[in-house]
Amino acid sequence: MESLVCSFCGRKYSAEELVWRCECGHPLDLDFNGKLDLGRIKGRPPGIWRYREALPIEDDKNIVSLSEGFTPLIAATISGRTALLKLDFLYPTGSFKDRGASVLISKAKELGVKKVVEDSSGNAGCAIAAYCARAGIECHIYVPESASPAKLLQIQAYGARLFKIPGTRTDVQSAALEAAKNIYYASHVWNPFFFQGTKTFGFEVFEQLNFQEPDTMIIPTGNGTLLIGAYLGFSELFHQHLIERIPRLIAVQAKACAPLYLAFRSGKEEIPEIVPEHTIAEGIAIPKPPRSKQVLEIIKKTGGEVLAVSEEEIVEGVRILNSLGIFAEPTSAVVIAAFLKMPQRAGEKVVLPITGHGLKTVDEYLRMGLPIS
Ligand SMILES: *Cc1c(COP(=O)(O)O)cnc(C)c1O
Ligand SMILES: [Zn+2]
Repeated sequence: MESLVCSFCGRKYSAEELVWRCECGHPLDLDFNGKLDLGRIKGRPPGIWRYREALPIEDDKNIVSLSEGFTPLIAATISGRTALLKLDFLYPTGSFKDRGASVLISKAKELGVKKVVEDSSGNAGCAIAAYCARAGIECHIYVPESASPAKLLQIQAYGARLFKIPGTRTDVQSAALEAAKNIYYASHVWNPFFFQGTKTFGFEVFEQLNFQEPDTMIIPTGNGTLLIGAYLGFSELFHQHLIERIPRLIAVQAKACAPLYLAFRSGKEEIPEIVPEHTIAEGIAIPKPPRSKQVLEIIKKTGGEVLAVSEEEIVEGVRILNSLGIFAEPTSAVVIAAFLKMPQRAGEKVVLPITGHGLKTVDEYLRMGLPIS
């Protein structure tokens, strides 16, 4: 059995202990170095489980899958420049969170867990609920009273029990943490197995670029579940000498809620207290990301940066995506806005993940009105 290690104080725990954070309060990571068996991968069906040797599940019979992943990587011309769009919304539940949910719920099954709790009003809640349905695991999701109705409906459709908590996002988390004293905490932010799933994003891009790394990736970032995952994936490739360097990771936030941007700009390790404003990029509106230190460290290590985009720039990003034949969540459009701002060197390969399906946010599209201008 693998161990969980604290990124801050170095303390170790066995994965069987079912701890979700270190005694010192910091998030845990999995001490596991996956191997990519290139010879065996090629003959396998497309999907995250083609990287079987790199995923920390011991017995195949515990794998909980809906055949997720291996999403298309397509070239697109945006304002006369070329970008590679990874269509990471083409999933059973409509967002890339399925990568993390598939591995995390497989691990829960392997550990003999019968019931899980998660707090998310959005795509992570949908993904955890779907994979629990598939696994026959009871699922409790805590959400703010004000959460968007479409995602709440999707969570309930999978048979999860919904707990609507009045008050702020912090009140929701406190309620979920209280429940997590007795129930396995399947958190997409705290549970390190979730990141073992999102790391397959890096493996796929590597394979789709003919076993090479891109130069740069621009990633929509709130808690950093995709950013940390992509970094883990490319680090494993690097440690196996399959790539020469880890791509530069650029995080994008909405200006309306940009704690990582503000910390990065001021050169601080701690994120500032902010009062978030409303943004149409609801999927990344996280005022206090628990893994902020880890995210900032990764960005610095890869020579990346944090960009912030305005609501007008995000709407322009939505318009551009739609004109390319892509109907995605407004949250996903932040990467287009960031790409337009970023200087691109000749021949630089830039990958932009498009993270959530537009059908999840029809309300938001109705509010924006057509034509989007
Ligand atoms: C979860 C999510 C993201 C990334 O958010 P993190 O909080 O950084 O994990 C981006 N786009 C969509 C649509 C999402 O659901
Ligand atoms: Zn610790």
